Order: sequence, then structure tokens, then C-alpha cells
Amino acid sequence: MVSLTFDNSYARLPERFHHRQQPQRMPAPRLVLFNAALARELGFDPASRTPDEIAALLCGNDLPEGAQPLAMVYAGHQFGHWVPRLGDGRALLLGEVVTPAGERRDIHLKGSGRTPFSRGGDGRAALGPVLREYIVAEAMARLGIPTTRALAAIATGDTITRDTPLPGAVLVRVARSHLRVGTFQYFAATGDVEGLRELADHAVARLYPHARQAENPCRALLDAVIGAQAALVAEWMGVGFIHGVMNTDNTSIAGETLDYGPCAFMDAFDPGAVFSSIDSMGRYAYGNQPSIVYWNLARLAQALMPLLAPDAAQAQHAAQEAVDGFPDRYEAAWLAVMRRKLGLVSAQEGDASLVRDLLTLMHGQGADYTLTFRRLARAVIAPAAGAERPFAPAFDGWLGRWRRRLEADGAGADRSDPSAVSRRLEAANPLFIPRNHLVEEALAAAYAGDPGPARTLLDVLADPFADRPQHARHALPPTPGEIVRETFCGT
Ligand code: AMP
Ligand code: MG
Repeated sequence: MVSLTFDNSYARLPERFHHRQQPQRMPAPRLVLFNAALARELGFDPASRTPDEIAALLCGNDLPEGAQPLAMVYAGHQFGHWVPRLGDGRALLLGEVVTPAGERRDIHLKGSGRTPFSRGGDGRAALGPVLREYIVAEAMARLGIPTTRALAAIATGDTITRDTPLPGAVLVRVARSHLRVGTFQYFAATGDVEGLRELADHAVARLYPHARQAENPCRALLDAVIGAQAALVAEWMGVGFIHGVMNTDNTSIAGETLDYGPCAFMDAFDPGAVFSSIDSMGRYAYGNQPSIVYWNLARLAQALMPLLAPDAAQAQHAAQEAVDGFPDRYEAAWLAVMRRKLGLVSAQEGDASLVRDLLTLMHGQGADYTLTFRRLARAVIAPAAGAERPFAPAFDGWLGRWRRRLEADGAGADRSDPSAVSRRLEAANPLFIPRNHLVEEALAAAYAGDPGPARTLLDVLADPFADRPQHARHALPPTPGEIVRETFCGT
């Protein structure tokens, strides 16, 4: 039988890095969603077990051999406010699996019971938020955007208390790493420079091994994380994703989308879009995300200062220099994403304003973000007489500019072959995203005992770029009555 091979490098770090702890025993675990393809990538053959056995294994009742469950310690800025100790309050790292392809992946349980970091919380998760994270994380992965993955959503068979009693669940999550900006902040704030150094060495070995060859590996680590986060947020902006809780403890050192809470994909384009019920000030609004991640990376640089240079002034200089690189790195990453979405292959002066002018038009028109880009694939081909126009007349001027820009593109732009440009646009602009109203509909059905809509939605999102007429409903924006204005983290 093919099984999971554990090698737990984080568990080998000193005791002050974590708290060893067993998952709470769940009364009647039942598999609601399971990612068989991801299981196989991890080296686990799902056919070797029944669904109930898989549920018992992955919820922690029947811990897989080699797992060494522990709660990780970290600190963080939550909505800008410093919290000196957060840590896994409702989650456990089961261990690290080395896949048959030789890649190391964290296996993590969310909703597994109280830990010393739970503070006032119950350590548990409700079925709805678990399914939301599963669906949105898998959609993100299929959109080609770095993210933690979802291996399983397991109903635990007991009831937890929120505003109302709700079915409890655990999410089994897979990540390149669960190190956060907040992990570094914890060791920096406790004045534990030795711990900070071990953590940085661990991060370099695990995530950025090239940094080991650098003159200062810690500076190289910082630069690598800044680059990974610039690229990640640029991709979020490209698909209209709003993370919702970009606290430093939810900012991954691996540059993966981490800790899906009250997240959302926007429908109509609005740079001020906020969905999270706990973000009343709009700190984490769509358009603020680049500057928020910039701020979070400055906190990482600050935490790493004791390792950047032997004296404080030099360390300050190195930290500042690294962080100052962010705006240009982000702008370049964002422009690359947006050029791809416009079907452009070369880089030309004026591209940024071409993109920004389209966004301004979309905002003024209340246009659907996803479908506007997707329709460019139709707009590039001369419309058949009498066919429905893909764009409102307000876009005509902009479309003319865009067509001229496409023509000005160099060789390789397929300017003589509009259908090739159209295919490139379809490959860059998804038709299907996890729209809030579809996610809410799937969650409501699951609460009522029917996981069918969640499974269908996952099937659709598994191939976000391919038009499938039988799923036309899943491509549509919400009707006025279906619009979801607020999302909840449900913790
Ligand atoms: P989040 O913003 O959801 O990633 O969580 C922030 C912090 O709150 C982390 O330290 C979590 O472990 C903790 N937390 C969230 N929900 C709970 C819960 N139900 N019980 C205990 N701790 C929780
Ligand atoms: Mg978190």
C-alpha cells in the first residue's frame, strides 16, 4: 500500500518553537470533500482505504504513522495591532510529507481542538468556513496562483457553538510551509536571536535553498520573500481576489495564499471592494492589498534586522534597502499579469495607463471584472453581423486603443491571426471563479446535508478557462437578489 512518508523538520527545531499536542478525538468523522488527485501527488493511494478510514486517518483519530502533531507558535499584527503571541489556536501541523517527486509538504489540520494558543476560542471550525477554504483554495490552485491546498474536508459528527449551533468540521490542508511573517516577529519580539537564526536557517533550507550561497543568506531570504509576495499579490489583483485578513500572521514566507477566512472574488470591479464582516475600516480592501503587503514585508524586514548585519545602522540600511525594492517589483509583476490579461506579448510605454483606463471604465460602468476580461477574447474577432456585442458602447474608444496596441505588438503577437490572440486571451482570463453567491449556495446546501453543489462547483472550478455550456450558470455574475455583500470568517 502506498502511504504518506513523514520527515518532520519543524518538529526537530527546539521545544520553544512549538507545543506538541494530539488532535481532539472526533466522535463520528465523515469525509465531505476529498482531493484524490492531491492525495496521489503526496504518495497516498486513496483506493487503499474506505472513505471512513480516510476520514479517521486525516482527522487525527487514527493518526498516520510518522505524524508528530504540534501547534506552531507565532505572533502578528492583526489589523495593524501588535499581538505578541498568537500561534495555532485551532490547528495542528501533523508533520511534513516528502512526496514521491521529492517535494516537502506540510500536512496541517484546522479545527482540531484547543491548544495553549487558543486564548478564548474553542479550537474548532464549522463546516461552512472549512468548505469555503477548500473551494476557494482549490480554485486558486487551478487558476495557477500559489496557494495552500485542500486535501479533505471532514465533518466531525459533533456540534460546535457559534451564533447558532453548527456542525463541526476539520480541514486537512497541504502547504509548502506554514512559516509566517508572524513566526519571525515572535522570535524577534522575544529577543531570541538564536531562535530567529534557527528559524531563518530552517526557512532557507526548506524554501529558498539558493539563498544559502548568498553573501548574507538572511538578506537573500528577505529579498526572496519580498519577490514571492509581490508576485502573489499581483496575481490576486489579476483575478479580483480579496484576501480579507492580510494580517502578518496570515502572510506566508513561502509566498502562498494562506488562511482563507472572509475572502472573496469581486463581481463588479471596485477598487474599494471589501466583503469581510470584521473589516469595518476597509483596511484590506481590494485596492489596498499591495500597500498592505508592503507594510507586512516591512515588519518582516524589521524582525530580521538582528541577522542582516553586525551593527544596527548597517542592519537598518539593509532592511530599508530590501523593503524599498518592493514597489518596483510589485509594479513589474502586476504589469506582467495585466499584459497577459490583455493578450499583449511585448512591453511598451503606455501599457500601464491602458490597463488603468480600462479599470476606470469598468468601475464607472459597474462592469463584471472577470467577464470583461474574458469578453476581450470575443472582441478581438470581428463580430458576425447581428451577433450580440460583447461590450457596451462606452468601451468603444478604449477597445480601439487596445486593438491598435495589439497591432503594434511585435512578432509573436499573431497579429495576422485573431483566433490565436483570442485563444491566448481565453487562456489568460478565466470564465469561472468561485463567485460569492455560488460559494454561499454550496455552503447552505452542505449545511442542509447535501454536498452535491459544493462538488459540482469544485468540478467547474477545476478547469476555470474552458467554456462548458452545461455550466453556463456558474459563469454568470449574481442577479441583484443573489449579491453577497458580506463574508464571515466564522471563527
Ligand atoms: P485567523 O485570522 O483566522 O488566521 O486566526 C487568528 C488567530 O486566532 C490564530 O492564532 C488562530 O489560531 C486563532 N483562532 C481563530 N479561531 C479560533 C478558534 N475557534 N479557537 C481558537 N483559536 C482560534
Ligand atoms: Mg491565521
